[in-house]
Formats: sequence, C-alpha cells, structure tokens
Amino acid sequence: MPRTSVALLLLSAATSLAQLPTAELKRQVDAMRPAMESTYQQLHRAPELSRQEEKTSAFLAAELKKLGYTVTDHIGRYEDGKPAFGLVGVLKNGDGPVVLVRTDMDGLPVTEATGLPFASTVRATNPQGQDVGVMHACGHDTHMTVFLGVAKMLADNRKAWHGTVEMLAQPAEEVIAGAKAMMADHLYDRIPRPVAVLDMHDTNNYATGTVATAAGPLLASSTSVYVTFHGIGAHGSTPANGKDPILLGAEFVVLAQAIVARQIPAQTPAVLTVGTFHAGTKNNIIPDDATLGLTLRAYDEQARQTLVTGVTRTANAVAAAYGTAPDKMPTITIPEQTGPTINDAGLAAKLKQTATAVIGAANVGNAEPIMGSEDVSYLTDGGKIPLGMFWLGVADPAKLEESRRTGKPLPNIHSPLFAPVYGPALPVGVEVMTATAMQLLR
Ligand SMILES: [Zn+2]
Ligand SMILES: [Zn+2]
Repeated sequence: MPRTSVALLLLSAATSLAQLPTAELKRQVDAMRPAMESTYQQLHRAPELSRQEEKTSAFLAAELKKLGYTVTDHIGRYEDGKPAFGLVGVLKNGDGPVVLVRTDMDGLPVTEATGLPFASTVRATNPQGQDVGVMHACGHDTHMTVFLGVAKMLADNRKAWHGTVEMLAQPAEEVIAGAKAMMADHLYDRIPRPVAVLDMHDTNNYATGTVATAAGPLLASSTSVYVTFHGIGAHGSTPANGKDPILLGAEFVVLAQAIVARQIPAQTPAVLTVGTFHAGTKNNIIPDDATLGLTLRAYDEQARQTLVTGVTRTANAVAAAYGTAPDKMPTITIPEQTGPTINDAGLAAKLKQTATAVIGAANVGNAEPIMGSEDVSYLTDGGKIPLGMFWLGVADPAKLEESRRTGKPLPNIHSPLFAPVYGPALPVGVEVMTATAMQLLR
C-alpha cells in the first residue's frame, strides 16, 4: 500500500474515533461559541462563595432541564449537618455504560483586580462574618461553561453514543467539602454508580487552546492540621514562672521540617508547610496557648501517614522536652483532608488519544504532577471508580512564553489578576470532554 493511503487510513481512523466525526463535532461546538462566551461572562460576574452556591446551582439545574436531563438538586450534607447545593443531571440513552462528568461551582473570597469589563464586583459574608470580595479566581466559571457545552453536545447527538451520562455539579470544592458532602448524602444510591469519572481544571501553566494530561498522580493529597501548644501564661519579665507556648511552637516549626528532610524517601514528594502561627496579645505577656496551622501534601498514602504521625510525635516530643504536664500536651486536630488526584492509566491514555484526534498532537501536552489539591477523588469512592482528568490551558501563549523565558510566573488560579484567555479554551474543553465521554459511551 502506498504511503499516502496508509496516512489516509490513519487519518480516517483518528477522525472516526469520536463516533461523531471530528469535523461535525467542531462545527457544532464552533456554532455554540458565542453563547458559551456570554454564559462564561454571566457566570464570571456572579460568583458565590463555597457553600453559598444557591443561584449558581439553580442556573445549572435549569439549563440541564432545558436540555432534557432529569435533575436531582440539593444533594449533599456537610459534616456540620447543613445541606449542600450539589446537583446531578442524568440523561439515559439506551443500554450502555454510565459515565459521570463533573464540574465545581464555587468562587473564592478574592477581590477581583483584572479590570475586565465583566469583572466581578460581588461581595459576600464569609463564615467568619467578614464582608469579602468574591471572584471566580479558580476558573470554576470556565468549568461550568464547558460542562454545559458538553451536556448540550451529548443531548444533541444521542445517535453517537449509548448508555447513561451523569452531569454532576458539586459545591464547596475550595474548602474540600462539597464532593464529600455529596457522597455523605448517598450520591451513588440516588444515581447509578458510574464506571468512570471525567473532570478537568483550567490553568495558566498551559497555553489556551491546549490540554495536558498524564497517567498517575496529577494532584497531591492535602491534610490540614492544627497544633495547639498549651503553655502557662506569665509576665514577660518572669518566663521561669510560666511555660512559653511560643517557644514550643517555634521549636516545632523548625523540627517538623526534619520529617520531610529525614523521614520520607528522597524519591517521594512531600510538603509540610506551617501557614499560620497565632499566639499572644502583648509584648510583655507570655500567653497560655499557641496555635499553628499546617498543610501536608503528598501523592503517596504512606508518605501522608508519615507526615501526620511525624507531626503528632514532634509536637508531643517538643512539649515533653520542655516539661509540659501530661494533661497539657498539645491538642492536634485534622479539620479537613482530601486524597490525591490519580488518573487511571487506561482513561489517561484514552483522553490523550481522543484529544490528539480532535485538537492535534501539538495541542496535547504531558501533565507534570503538582502539589496542589482537589476533592474530586471523593467521587471516585476512594479510588474504586477510575478517574480521567485533564488540564485545560487558558494562558495567553505569548505571555506564557515570556514567563518561561524570564522565570516570572503569570498570575495563576487564586490570584485577583487571574484572567484566563477563555475564548479558544471553551471550545477545546467541550470538544475534548465530549469526544472522551462518547468514546466511553459505546
Ligand atoms: Zn481553587
Ligand atoms: Zn479550582
């Protein structure tokens, strides 16, 4: 067979991958682009804080209903017993597998400084009762827009797939509580258990118009820990009459770094950061207590355990070394934690193959794992359901190039200056996610 025919054959194999021919997929998504851009701007203008996503969830529920999905909303119960705004739209389309596509909905307590014409001016009250600016600084507005685009593509092209698709919108991702709350509210008793969870997140680490993925860890587990040292208050001039919890805390901050440096194998990534240290009210008073807030990051569960037990042992050892009474040993609590985000090897390969067929190999990158975190792993029921996740690039290619050259990072997610180049990214997100879902729904 001449070379050209082989190439043509390969090309036709690639374009037929998505069952819906790639050219037709692209034509339909292109036609949706103006509507998607206006949905994006509308969502961007109206962010809601974690656990407060009432209007956002109502909007998504209404849109999914319009597309013919059967919607169950108000799914989720937080650990404090309060209800959550999680929702799922289900579309049954004959026999076949069940595939779940996930978005998150919450904004962040960040006052937008992008100066964009559709910038958020929203203010809200945070859980501490403070008035704060609110911004979709993590790009969950991008996620929701892509999510609705995928829902429409699947609803409009039912001849191209078989099975059941579950479009799931979760609240409170930023506080690592929403996916857990939905699982605690018996999510998979309410909807069929999926064979795959598909997800994506935007990022300025990759250029707009591109995606990146990889098998294995994409994001780390995150464990928040509070350590409170109980000392004995005294006048600052007579430290021997008390027991200084600030000194204990300071010793702990330094010694705890040895857990990463000396107790975790050099090949295993781990991070221990003390992000808060609160104690005292006045220069000449030794306070009663000092409370430190830590975040622990790892891909590997054994490394996470080493960090947690190391923090506990170090805190107790520091307290004991300074003669702390047994009933005044440190109080250690873990208010929140989430597992690592680990891509299933088969799904990652499928994502890569599909994305390559749809947007071209030059636009599909290899994702480097990062130590950030996500709560999507809760939806995989502790890793029992395979996860397929990709990064959606939203960076201006020229600025990204310049930032790589100068070493000066671009304002990325969570920055008040985060301004994703959403125009080319939205269609790419819809194309890759739709084609991948269709690949699994056969
Ligand atoms: Zn975020
Ligand atoms: Zn996010």
